[in-house]
Amino acid sequence: MTKQDHIAVWDRCLSIIKDNTSEEGFKTWFAPIRAKSLVGKTLTLEVPSHYVREHIDTHYSDLLLKVLTLVIGNGFRLIYSVRVVGDSYVRSLENGRETPENRAVVLSGEAQRYNGSAYAIPGIQKVKIDPHLNPNYDFDNFVVGDCNRLGYSAGLSIASDPGKNPFNPLFIYGGPGLGKTHLAQAIGIATKDKFPDKIVRYINANTFVAQYMDTVGINRQITDFLRVYQAIDVLIIDDVHEFAEKSGSQKALFQIFNYLHQSQKQLILTSDKPPVELAGLEQRLLSRFKWGLSVELSMPDYATKLAILKSKCLRGGVEIPDEILEYIAQNVKGNIRELEGTIVTLIAQATFTKKEMTMELAHDLIEKIVQTPQNEITVSKISSVVCDYFKISPEQMASKSRKREVAQARQIAMYLSRTLTNTSLSYIGSQIGGRDHATVLHSYNTVNDLLDTDRTFKKYISDLKRILCQ
Ligand code: ADP
Ligand code: MG
Repeated sequence: MTKQDHIAVWDRCLSIIKDNTSEEGFKTWFAPIRAKSLVGKTLTLEVPSHYVREHIDTHYSDLLLKVLTLVIGNGFRLIYSVRVVGDSYVRSLENGRETPENRAVVLSGEAQRYNGSAYAIPGIQKVKIDPHLNPNYDFDNFVVGDCNRLGYSAGLSIASDPGKNPFNPLFIYGGPGLGKTHLAQAIGIATKDKFPDKIVRYINANTFVAQYMDTVGINRQITDFLRVYQAIDVLIIDDVHEFAEKSGSQKALFQIFNYLHQSQKQLILTSDKPPVELAGLEQRLLSRFKWGLSVELSMPDYATKLAILKSKCLRGGVEIPDEILEYIAQNVKGNIRELEGTIVTLIAQATFTKKEMTMELAHDLIEKIVQTPQNEITVSKISSVVCDYFKISPEQMASKSRKREVAQARQIAMYLSRTLTNTSLSYIGSQIGGRDHATVLHSYNTVNDLLDTDRTFKKYISDLKRILCQ
């Protein structure tokens, strides 16, 4: 074990914690902690004071338990060393299940309040439910890299013990084409392989909404609708952002969620944004989405892209020279779906035209496929158009200046970025003046409010949209 292991391990923990706490909470409680050592599976953390240690114990035990189980593995131990007095304090957060004390920690979450739910419908029978799983989306076919390792590990844990693990619900989020559906389905498939009797059901949020409208919207038979869902052991709902503004379906989802979670059944949700950034969903649902673990799927790096290409070729039974695959991995900058599209087109092209798979063929194809559309709207493009429009410099836009025109331009750029691009609030903030996601959200709301009341603002926004979308 190298000297730096404890730092690397704690860094990994921090990156997960960051995704699962508020920004304030993270800054106040976790940022000041230093990793001191890692001996076997015992991690020692240095905390600034007893107060911090106590606060973390009371408020974050559950989260730490999940994170340390994922990063260090079963049987980890955590020791706090308090910086001020220099004494050590062993927290017996020794991987959940074994110690009764931990059991108390894990189970003392908010979920307990829902015991004796009013929504439970008696007499649920085992019904036959088609899981709607696509056999191609299994774990064997899922290439693991830095971009998805955490989701993959959590997924494996869930499949080996669905419902009774700390990752319930598992909330998988990320941009399009990064493997959310594939991963969620893989968990379903692996669960079904291990526990054939368990009822697994995958459903896309849009289908759920349509089903709800069909059964409940017309004859108001919510009980029938809920009954089917309450029989499920592993419920996978894909693209939950589609529930936005659909209050009837949200209500049904809320009831199903409570019932299943309380009965220790597994929930897996996917979305294009993390819970904090989901607009149009009820707060009580969002807070439940955060009960388990949120994991992000991000863009794959070069090595992962190459591994994905190789795996696709192997599975498709085609041989493509390494140098061509390397070229594709380097040049396709989009998501995994685009990467897959490129290789499929390449294979098809070579097959139809009976041409040999050469570097030239790959080159020509990629030229056509990879070209980013000239009119693509990005945060940096928005930023520069807004600068031009208000005659302020990019430096002012990036500065901390609170001058009215500058601050207003910044808010408008943030608003437009949120409306016209599919990027996260934190990304927008990082690109416009190094602000945090809360500032971006605040700007968005401010501009949104002003749009209703202020004519000048309305004109600014419509002018800018015209320029950007032409
Ligand atoms: P999302 O639901 O995030 O939009 P999908 O799960 O539909 O993305 O993935 C898009 C395509 O990329 C699918 O064909 C999927 O099989 C493939 N894919 C995604 N992630 C991986 C991965 N890690 N390994 C192999 N194929 C992947
Ligand atoms: Mg999907």
